[in-house]
Amino acid sequence: MSSVRNVIIIGSGPAGLTAALYTARANLSPLIIEGLEAGGQLMITTAVENFPGFADGVQGPDLIAAMRTQAARFGAETKQGHVTAVDLESRPFAVTVNGEVVHTHTLIISTGASAKLLGLPSERKLMGHGVSTCATCDGFFFRGKPIAVVGGGDSALEEATFLTRFASSVTIIHRRDTLRASKIMQDKAFDNPKISFEWDTEVLEVLDNGQGAVCGVKLRNVRTGMEKDLEIEGLFVAIGHTPNTALFKGMLDMDTNGYLVTRHGSKTSIPGVFACGDVQDPTYRQAITAAGSGCMAALDAERFLESQGH
Ligand code: NAP
Repeated sequence: MSSVRNVIIIGSGPAGLTAALYTARANLSPLIIEGLEAGGQLMITTAVENFPGFADGVQGPDLIAAMRTQAARFGAETKQGHVTAVDLESRPFAVTVNGEVVHTHTLIISTGASAKLLGLPSERKLMGHGVSTCATCDGFFFRGKPIAVVGGGDSALEEATFLTRFASSVTIIHRRDTLRASKIMQDKAFDNPKISFEWDTEVLEVLDNGQGAVCGVKLRNVRTGMEKDLEIEGLFVAIGHTPNTALFKGMLDMDTNGYLVTRHGSKTSIPGVFACGDVQDPTYRQAITAAGSGCMAALDAERFLESQGH
């Protein structure tokens, strides 16, 4: 089969683009399938200050654009679209994208993770109408308005701090009385006069102003059971992420949270299928670790192809 690709990479965040760069430089002519959220989570981030080599920081979308250009320079091909099916039982593997089936000797999965939601019907109904999972995308709409952020991790505190540029006030709603976020993020938030906290508190409902927009949240203190309404016009949900692995359910080994299990570098439970980035990393989830694991996946794929005589 002459049309069989050496490498298909699903997902185009720092993991996928690094895998593309390395496999392209190894003359393997990789095909990157971008996915629904092309560029991944860095596209909805502002300043990235912890990616080595950028002493003054770099904007997430700029970093992705540079990685894409670098991979393309060595011949990596990009296809816009969403993979709807994979067949990992036959060889070469088959990947269905935009209704077309493409065959490949190796597959690198870098589909990342997506924002978790609280699971409230009112949250779903008001998504995009005051409820958001992306401060950098939507913060601008809340200029001069009171808003809240749910969560107690680095994402919640980073978003809350960022949102103080626009909002009149930011209330962080956290279900416990201690934060999971790093000390430096905590200090930044505690020092910010626009940020206040609702501790030991859960959101029961997002309130609608009768015109399909957010006018508040109904809160419950989990210790006392006391309920109260908080008037806000925007609610940012920042409670972590779910790995994008639905496509591979029943095919590849996953942990109890649905993250792909990798062993000996980037190897999944099927030889020739590799995983990198957040889709297989519930622990570190950094752009730099994603990029590092993308490099590992590329080298693993290259060695596998060699061992198979391709
Ligand atoms: P996270 O660390 O898993 O924190 C999620 C937060 O949401 C926790 O405080 C959790 O509460 C809360 N939560 C989870 N489910 C909830 C629910 N159903 N209802 C209410 N609250 C809920 O996720 P993250 O903040 O997205 O961070 C993920 C990783 O990325 C971390 O390793 C973090 O350090 C990293 N990160 C780094 C930066 C940076 O360095 N600039 C920025 C963002 C993220 P509990 O605490 O009670 O579990």
